[in-house]
Amino acid sequence: MAKLSQTDLLELNRTFEDRTPGELIAWARDVFGDRLAALSAMQRAGNVLCHMLWKLEANVPVLFVDTGVLFPETLATRDAIASRYGLEVVTLSPRQTMEEQTAEHGVLYLSVDGQQQCCHARKTEPLLQVADQYDALFSSLRRTDGGARANVPILAVDPESNTLRINVMATMSAADLETYLEEEDVIVNPLHAQGYPTIGCIRCTTPVMPDEPRRAGRWRHLGPWSQYCGINPTDMDPSRSPTIDLPLDLVDRILGRETDYVI
Ligand code: SF4
Repeated sequence: MAKLSQTDLLELNRTFEDRTPGELIAWARDVFGDRLAALSAMQRAGNVLCHMLWKLEANVPVLFVDTGVLFPETLATRDAIASRYGLEVVTLSPRQTMEEQTAEHGVLYLSVDGQQQCCHARKTEPLLQVADQYDALFSSLRRTDGGARANVPILAVDPESNTLRINVMATMSAADLETYLEEEDVIVNPLHAQGYPTIGCIRCTTPVMPDEPRRAGRWRHLGPWSQYCGINPTDMDPSRSPTIDLPLDLVDRILGRETDYVI
């Protein structure tokens, strides 16, 4: 095994700035083969990612974390994505139901510390259960979402799942996203048209007033310090330079290094 750090990816990320999402998807298919999946919460950008995978016939499974307290519209969107595009959508679930979790820990999402514990148990841990099947995961984070995502790199290492996150839409503008959604007639969660710019769990998501920030409806009851669930590592500490461990030949392929193996 060999270490791959965020710093190792600096130059590659520079050269990838001009690549289209389609080119990045093709690169990843070539480098990671079957040890590659996509992560989607079935919001607008995630649905665009699914649409692209379908158009490119990328044959990549889509991981969807069902926390057990999602909106019915989100589950229906997942089903529509799987049905129309014929994608393999893998639904991941937490170990406990919300009722079981509450009986053991109380209502976690009513405090800042509890929210982090709840999101980790209901969002991150289900992903970690399957993470060893993959070396890389496509994500749909975009810089124009602002906040912690304003500088999200195209390639980001995630030490918790020991995978490389590939943010194929990092450079896509808000206008380009809208155009793609409309021109390609992408499936859209109907809640977006009902005042929800972003959508998470029922317990922690509200509609947003026109003059509020897009993420104002996420964990509104906890105040503006709670903005992200943590399933995307770059949301939590974008400035760090963590490492992951991958097979040496894979690290060489990622970095485009010439190798001179002695047989
Ligand atoms: S969004 Fe709320 S209910 Fe959902 S996992 Fe996080 S804290 Fe729990």
